[in-house]
Amino acid sequence: MTQEKFIEQVSTMAKFLKTNCEDNHSGAPKKDINLRLSYKGEDLNFNVSTTLCKECEELFYYSHERLGECPHEIKPSCRKCPHPCYEKSRWKQMAKIMRYSGMKLGLTKLKKLFRLAS
Ligand SMILES: [Zn+2]
Repeated sequence: MTQEKFIEQVSTMAKFLKTNCEDNHSGAPKKDINLRLSYKGEDLNFNVSTTLCKECEELFYYSHERLGECPHEIKPSCRKCPHPCYEKSRWKQMAKIMRYSGMKLGLTKLKKLFRLAS
């Protein structure tokens, strides 16, 4: 994938992880994270910052690393990918978070639209 796409993917991941962590790990101690992105060994001179608990922090670093190793020029949907980057257990964990946050962020957007319309 392109560097732009990679940056976009990691930023989205950070946002989704944060939403999930805020809601579902509200009791866990959180840490501010500022990750400097690199892709295929190249420093992208781009930072993604977020706030996560220890568990989500590990998942975030893991995703960054695995996404960086995606061999596809145009990344297919992970579900359909013939060479999944994530180990199965991690993928399940991630899929749950993406579903939760995707739904929540989607709903917030809808609510905003409704407010604007009414
Ligand atoms: Zn968390």
